[in-house]
Amino acid sequence: MSTKVTKIAVMTSGGDSPGMNAAVRAVVRACIYNNIECMGILRGYQGLIDNDLIPLDSRSVRNTISRGGTFLQSARSKEFRTVEGRAKAYKNFKENNLDALVVIGGDGSFTGGMIFNKEHKVPVIGIPGTIDNDIYGTQFTLGYDTALNTVVEVIDKIRDTASSHNRLFFVEVMGRDAGFIALNAGIGAGAEEILIPEENLGIERLIDSLNVSKKSGKTSSIVVVAEGDKTGKSVFELADYVEKNMPEYDVRVSVLGHMQRGGSPSCFDRVLAGRLGVRAVELLLEGKSNLMVGINNNKITSTNLEKAVKLHHDIDKELLKVADILSI
Ligand code: ATP
Repeated sequence: MSTKVTKIAVMTSGGDSPGMNAAVRAVVRACIYNNIECMGILRGYQGLIDNDLIPLDSRSVRNTISRGGTFLQSARSKEFRTVEGRAKAYKNFKENNLDALVVIGGDGSFTGGMIFNKEHKVPVIGIPGTIDNDIYGTQFTLGYDTALNTVVEVIDKIRDTASSHNRLFFVEVMGRDAGFIALNAGIGAGAEEILIPEENLGIERLIDSLNVSKKSGKTSSIVVVAEGDKTGKSVFELADYVEKNMPEYDVRVSVLGHMQRGGSPSCFDRVLAGRLGVRAVELLLEGKSNLMVGINNNKITSTNLEKAVKLHHDIDKELLKVADILSI
């Protein structure tokens, strides 16, 4: 990149996650610290197409660190997927005298950023914001830790009622393609079984395992199921199947849904947001582009955006083993 960066824009895009506001705040304050201007783009890429931008100064992000969601709002923009849409976005980018863009979002948002960079040479840095933790190049995405704590808190409550009634609860958590929430929250909440998209443990194994639990004296059980679990059955179909095969259990289903995305970010997510936001601005000032900031072994790192989008983390086999051992 040849031009000096004096004014940047920040946006939140795709699904919202706790910690996005804290990351916007960090980007804004890092800009002010480095004597550059910052604008906020409302509603992700669609806001850039519609020229919906606001100037952000240090005070405009006060009282945002603890808020869930995103005050810049987020959107999924179909128009940005077209050449014409991106040309409109670029026109507004230039008219606002912007030099670079920070995109807080998931892999779709990063793909959009890479294409925008390729077509219009706009320097782009990505900050991973998604509760699913399914982005390569960072051990933690913004919002994941908060979502885990939310899920564990809710499952603890479900267990109270499950154990009062000898009930078997199927709890569906988010994770269409990745089982990180299910596996970690499942272990954290002491689930008897955890079903995830990455591993097909088989429905018969589930029945066997529940039978073993029953024989060992357990009077209630919690099965955590990721949305996209590999059995290919919905949580309701799974519950029906088990109810037919284990009539002694009173089976219930609880789908946690969007509550997992909301809420005030955990301290971990707030600190992570601060570190990632500051580094994103520093990278732009160093003339870098097409990178995603992340955290690995407690160090802030950067990964090529293309790698971040194309590659995937494997599920940790050790965690699978631990889940198995602890559920006896
Ligand atoms: P989440 O993890 O919550 O799904 P995400 O960032 O992956 O977040 P997407 O809806 O996939 O969410 O992408 C967000 C936005 O990024 C899209 O609405 C679109 O505007 C832009 N985008 C995604 N893919 C492309 C693409 N191939 N070309 C141009 N823009 C894209």
